[in-house]
Amino acid sequence: MAGLCEGRVAIVTGGGRGIGREYCLMLAAEGAKVVVNDLGAARDGVGADASPAQQVVDEIRAAGGEAVANGADVSDWAGAKGMIDQAISAFGRLDVLINNAGILRDRMLVNMTEAEWDAVIKVHLKGTFAPTHHAANYWRDLTKATGEPANARVINTSSVSGIYGNIGQTNYGAAKQGIAAFTIIAARELRRYGVTVNAIAPGALTRLTEDLGVVTEERKASGDPKWVAPIAVWLASAESKDVSGRMFEASGTVLGIAEGWHRGPTATPVKDPKALGPIVADLVARARKNAGMDGQDLD
Ligand code: NAD
Repeated sequence: MAGLCEGRVAIVTGGGRGIGREYCLMLAAEGAKVVVNDLGAARDGVGADASPAQQVVDEIRAAGGEAVANGADVSDWAGAKGMIDQAISAFGRLDVLINNAGILRDRMLVNMTEAEWDAVIKVHLKGTFAPTHHAANYWRDLTKATGEPANARVINTSSVSGIYGNIGQTNYGAAKQGIAAFTIIAARELRRYGVTVNAIAPGALTRLTEDLGVVTEERKASGDPKWVAPIAVWLASAESKDVSGRMFEASGTVLGIAEGWHRGPTATPVKDPKALGPIVADLVARARKNAGMDGQDLD
């Protein structure tokens, strides 16, 4: 039986480890040709090592699939362009870009340094924008040349830390919330080229999360990145063409769609700030509560 992504060409950033590695393996198992990008950085983004990406490439090839490694820093403008070019020169086309690379530098905001803020914002936000910009240019040119929609996909990576909010992660959460907004806007902009843009807020046991609580057998089983990869692979397929601008939550315990900001209760505008006390109290009382990390209303 043909795979779900037979013949499609996909780039997975941060594909050398954790969730991205699983995306690469499952995409290849479903027939995709994969560019495995990974800088090979430490958890905090420091350093570089070509071996994680190469190991995933070797694994895919050993199973009979096609893959090439790319060691670019996704937040480097020229590096991101080179990665898109590599997919096209290696496999003749590009259909799917999965922006998954990420780092953590958690700190309470009062203690957070400028470098900790900048590094996290750069890898996540610019590391999503730069590859998407270059891929979108390729797809725009393709649709102009062929007159056909590209039937292409961008799949970004957000987090419950960004869409719901987690203490100690103002840098990471701001970046991940930014990626949520980027996803919605890019989905609207790229629709005319036949490109869908969705995001996944994953939950899995990887080196980013292994120090959060005790690792029980149950947590190991539900934290397997294999629970996250199926929605990414489905979104990467041609079958998902009518789904765009959505935020999927995916882990071993949940598959759902996180709903975005909506205007809640309203009041008649006033020009006098002294009149606002009771008006705001009424608005707050009628507004839905913000969500906690489980996506449910906070008490
Ligand atoms: P991971 O550390 O296992 O994998 C991330 C990979 O990205 C690493 O191999 C790293 O070398 C690579 N990378 C880092 N900076 C890079 C750069 N500038 N260019 C290219 N590659 C780079 O982490 P993971 O848990 O698999 O995380 C994958 C994504 O999922 C991240 O965006 C993360 O923020 C997000 N996420 C993970 C969880 C979770 O539960 N694990 C939850 C929410 C969000």
